[in-house]
Amino acid sequence: MARSTPTSRRRPVIVVTNDDGIHASGLRALARALSALAEVVVVAPEIEQSSSSHALTLARPLRLRAVEEGWFALDGTPADCVYVATLHKGLCPRPPALVVSGINMGSNLGSDVFYSGTVAAAREGAIRGVPSIAFSMPAEEDARRCARRAATVVSRMLAWRQRHPREVALFNVNFPRGAVKGTRVTSLGVRQYDDLVEIRHDPRGRQYLWIGGPGVKHPRMPGTDTDAFERGFVSVTPLRLDLYDSTGNEAASMIAGARRSS
Ligand code: MN
Repeated sequence: MARSTPTSRRRPVIVVTNDDGIHASGLRALARALSALAEVVVVAPEIEQSSSSHALTLARPLRLRAVEEGWFALDGTPADCVYVATLHKGLCPRPPALVVSGINMGSNLGSDVFYSGTVAAAREGAIRGVPSIAFSMPAEEDARRCARRAATVVSRMLAWRQRHPREVALFNVNFPRGAVKGTRVTSLGVRQYDDLVEIRHDPRGRQYLWIGGPGVKHPRMPGTDTDAFERGFVSVTPLRLDLYDSTGNEAASMIAGARRSS
């Protein structure tokens, strides 16, 4: 078996997942590009899970379907996929060096990181102690071209990991529209969506709702991923798992009627 040759034993294992589902072109392009760098194990949702954020399926059983060699579809969420890929003994031949999520069809900039299943999958990897990275691109972009750029970033991340074997990093990467002017390390910007609740009626007269408007604007914030995106740069944003905000201590003391624990 090719997998047990000495050369292949040294290859790092990369878990690849997404939130657009096992059939998404961004997933296939990414997995193919990364297979030049590592042994790729794909565990992706059976159906699209965009905007599912970090949900885990705990109230029903999960079905894992072997699609082809090294490809598995799970009827769960992106975070389920990473949970299963890292803890199921039968999927990865060795513990994964990285979790790579994407390439998502649609940008995940700024505040999108709270809603994105693509970013949540990478975050689940980081929670499990595996350095992880999420990639997103505008839906109209060419997945294979972005995947080649993603592979370059991932190869650098593998090299970084070799030098920092105990660090667990989490990155969010977005490709811009059209020609790429370069790459920037960024902070998180802000996405201002056309927020709406549209009320409609079905043919039987019952009301239904659509939430989420189509448009989005980016307030000018130098150094952010939204700015890099507007200017045609790839953005690489380091993220943290710790949401604690020390600037809220005073307000927290007030509403708690207690001082900060020491
Ligand atoms: Mn998606």
